[in-house]
Amino acid sequence: MQHLLFSPLPTGLFATLLLLSLSLHGQAGEPDQRPPNIIVIFADDLGYGDLGVYGHPTIRTPHLDRMATEGQKWTNFYVGASVCTPSRAALMTGRLPVRSGMVSPRRRVLYPNSRYGLPEAEVTIADQLKSAGYATACIGKWHLGHKEPYLPTNNGFDYYFGIPYSNDMDIVADLEAAGGYWNFFTSRDGADTKSYNVPLMRNTEIVERPADQHTITRRYTEEAMDFIRERDDDEPFFIYLAHNLPHIPLFASEEFTGTSERGLYGDVVEEIDAGIGRIRALLEEEGLAENTVIVFTSDNGPWLPFGIQGGSAGLLRNGKGTTWEGGMREPCIFWGPGRIRPGVVTDLGTTMDLFTTFSALVGVAEPDDRPMDGVDLAPVLFGDGTSPRNTVYYYRGDELYAIRVGDYKAHFITQGAYGGEERTVHDTPLLYNLSMDPSERHDIAEAHPEILERIRSVVADHQSKLVKGKDQLIDLDEG
Ligand code: MG
Repeated sequence: MQHLLFSPLPTGLFATLLLLSLSLHGQAGEPDQRPPNIIVIFADDLGYGDLGVYGHPTIRTPHLDRMATEGQKWTNFYVGASVCTPSRAALMTGRLPVRSGMVSPRRRVLYPNSRYGLPEAEVTIADQLKSAGYATACIGKWHLGHKEPYLPTNNGFDYYFGIPYSNDMDIVADLEAAGGYWNFFTSRDGADTKSYNVPLMRNTEIVERPADQHTITRRYTEEAMDFIRERDDDEPFFIYLAHNLPHIPLFASEEFTGTSERGLYGDVVEEIDAGIGRIRALLEEEGLAENTVIVFTSDNGPWLPFGIQGGSAGLLRNGKGTTWEGGMREPCIFWGPGRIRPGVVTDLGTTMDLFTTFSALVGVAEPDDRPMDGVDLAPVLFGDGTSPRNTVYYYRGDELYAIRVGDYKAHFITQGAYGGEERTVHDTPLLYNLSMDPSERHDIAEAHPEILERIRSVVADHQSKLVKGKDQLIDLDEG
C-alpha cells in the first residue's frame, strides 16, 4: 500500500477512486496522505566528517544526529561538482552541470562580475514542485546568478531571502596589506563582516549591504520558520534552505561564539544544527512533522587549504575543489517520520536524484526533451528496495576526471584543490574499490585490468552521447 502513495499522482476519476480506496483502507497512525512538505537544507563546504553522527569527535550536532537515527543516514551520497556553482546547478536541475553550461574551463564558479547565471531553458526542482501546487521559498545562498533574470524568483521560487553568492566575495579590505587573499583568511580567526560587501536580498531587492554575517545563520533559520508559520493550510510547501556557512569567512552569533570545543568552525556548525532543531520543533508544534520530509546535505567537501578554518572530510581523501571522495561525497540525512524507513543506507545517491525523486513523489513528469541525470530513490526512502543508481561522474569544470561504477572508482586525471597544484593525467587510471577502501589508498589498477576495461566502456558510452552546454560562467567584460 505504501508504494502507491508515492507513485505519480493519477488524475481525474481514477485519482478519486484511489483516494477513496486509501481512505477506506487507511489505518490510524498512517502518514498523512497529502504530498509532504519538503525542506532541503544545504550547508556550504561542510565535510563528510563534520557532524557528530558522521564521526566528528568534538562538533556537537544533536539535532541532525537524532534525525539521522530516526530517518536515514546515507554514506555514499554525492554532489554534482566539488565547488559551489555547478554543485547547486546539479541539485536545482537534476542534471550534470556540464549539460547546462554551469561549468567552465576558466572559471570554477560565478562571481559578482559574472554576466550570466542558470540558463532560462533549465527547469528547476522548484519549477517542478510549484507546478504541483507547492508554495516555494529559497532562503540563503543561491550562486546561480545574482542578476534579476537568474534569481530564485525567476527560477520557480515564490520567495527569496539571502546572499546571492559566496560570503567571501566583494572583499573591500586591503588584501595587499594583509599579505594576499590566503593570508588574509588564514591569519585571522573570525573576520570582520564589513570586509565583505556582500548584498542581502529579499526577492529582487537588496535590503542590507554589507550583510551582517554574524547573524545570518540565525536569520535564515527564522525566515524558514516564518515561511512555515505563514503558510496556507491548503498548500504544501517547499523550502530550499541553503546556508552560506561554514564556508569561510566563518561567523557565528554571540550566543554561539566560543561555545564549541572545535573552535569557531564548530560554533558555526553547531549554530546551523541548533537552527534545524528549532525548525523541527516548529513542525511538531504546528502538527506538520508527520507530513514533512527534510533532507540535509552540503554542496561540496571541506576547503582544506584554509587549515583550521576549513572542515573535515573524515576518512575520505582530500576535499573541496577536487574529484577525490572528500570533494564530492557528503553527509546526507533524510528525515520524515512515518514515511522515511529508518536505517543507514550504503546505496549510491546524488543531489540530482532529489529532482527525480520529488518530481515522481508529487506526480510531475520530468522534462523529456533533454537528458536527465537523476534516479528515483523512492524504493530506498519509502520501501525496502535498493537504489537504481550505479554510476557517479566526477567532473572538474567540463572535463570528466573520474567515475564510480558500483564499488569501483577510476581516476583518469587528478589535481589538488585550487591553483598551483599539478594536474596529473593517468595513462593507466588509478583504480580503487571504495567499499573496501573509502580513503582511496590502495590502487588496484594493475591487478584488475578487466574492471578498468568495463569502466572505460561506460565512459565511452557517456561521452559519445554528451552534449556540453554553452559556458555560462563568463565575466561582464568577456564576449
Ligand atoms: Mg561550497
